[in-house]
Amino acid sequence: MTTVAAYAAPAAKAPLERTTIERRATGEFDVLIDIKYAGICHSDIHQAHDGWGGSIFPLVPGHEITGIVTEAGPGVTRHRVGDRVGVGCMVDSCRECENCLAGHEQYCLRGNTATYNAVDRNGDVTYGGYSTHIVVDENFVVRIPDGLSLDVAAPLLCAGITTYSPLRHWNAGPGKKVAVIGLGGLGHMAVKTAHALGAEVTVLSQSLRKKDDGLRLGADHYYATGDEATFEQLRGTFDLIVSTVSAPLDLGAFLGMLKTDGALVNVGAPEEPVSLNLFSLLGGRKTLAGSAIGGIAETQEMLDFCAERGLGSEIEVIGASQINEAYDRVLASDVRYRFVIDVATI
Ligand code: NAP
Ligand code: ZN
Ligand code: ZN
Repeated sequence: MTTVAAYAAPAAKAPLERTTIERRATGEFDVLIDIKYAGICHSDIHQAHDGWGGSIFPLVPGHEITGIVTEAGPGVTRHRVGDRVGVGCMVDSCRECENCLAGHEQYCLRGNTATYNAVDRNGDVTYGGYSTHIVVDENFVVRIPDGLSLDVAAPLLCAGITTYSPLRHWNAGPGKKVAVIGLGGLGHMAVKTAHALGAEVTVLSQSLRKKDDGLRLGADHYYATGDEATFEQLRGTFDLIVSTVSAPLDLGAFLGMLKTDGALVNVGAPEEPVSLNLFSLLGGRKTLAGSAIGGIAETQEMLDFCAERGLGSEIEVIGASQINEAYDRVLASDVRYRFVIDVATI
């Protein structure tokens, strides 16, 4: 065991503060990572506020982790000391079930082990990336390609893969009209990725405040959902809509924007349930679906794709003492487009 510095929420909604945590000794198949950057995902805030229920305190968030391998166990073959690596939302899974064997570890039938706010297979509570070091099984560690710097790569480990996976699964590409609801951390990566895949991209944001950014990031069109006319104007337009919204949404209204056989894929994880009149799906044989992060191999594929296309996250690097202020700004939709903690400041 090693004692390392971290930032933790001591209780639900309490400000995060500096503390220390224990990391396990580097096991046979583990790597020890010297963390350089950790992105702030809205999921960190949901959990630090216990908005989903069941949070374990003290809670050290952070599942958008990049850093350098400083130690490798004797059985490690995939990574070496000095490698630039990343860790996303999970650090283990059963590795035996149908989904794990298919590379969908995020849907492990026995439950994956989340990077933080979870109990791992040894019975220990997991702590995330708002800390100086982490020990992770090599199979849940990905390689950061040379073309990506560690700061802009960090948000790809959650925001990047969570949007890449459904865009690929629902075939975003040339000839497809794709809309992204919410231009935040996930939303801005959805726009960049859908554009890079060749789709015609529309941003559906609450207002036109971020329109210039949206167009610069790769959107072809930008509409305000605060304007009722948008819903009439865009009726029957999209093949695919990806919702990245962190709050409950009137899904019925957005389903009206789909073409026949279109799909609305929700990746947002609001704290309250939503209600839906199912008639919104009947006319037009529409699909309402969900998607969670992505598998490990798919995460590596996404990183390689981003490096090839020069797609990093748009980030604002902050010191650890600014974490609480950054949380307030994310809650106010005042983020352009991901806060990333410089872990050297912890
Ligand atoms: P974020 O940066 O805060 O972005 C969310 C965006 O949603 C905001 O920028 C805002 O965009 C829009 N929004 C916020 N409140 C709204 C409201 N009341 N009505 C309409 N739009 C609203 O958050 P994020 O980090 O991208 O995460 C988004 C959600 O995805 C969170 O719930 C998070 O927990 C979840 N998540 C899910 C997965 C998964 O695996 N499925 C992975 C990561 C995160 P505009 O200002 O443009 O309107
Ligand atoms: Zn996340
Ligand atoms: Zn499994």
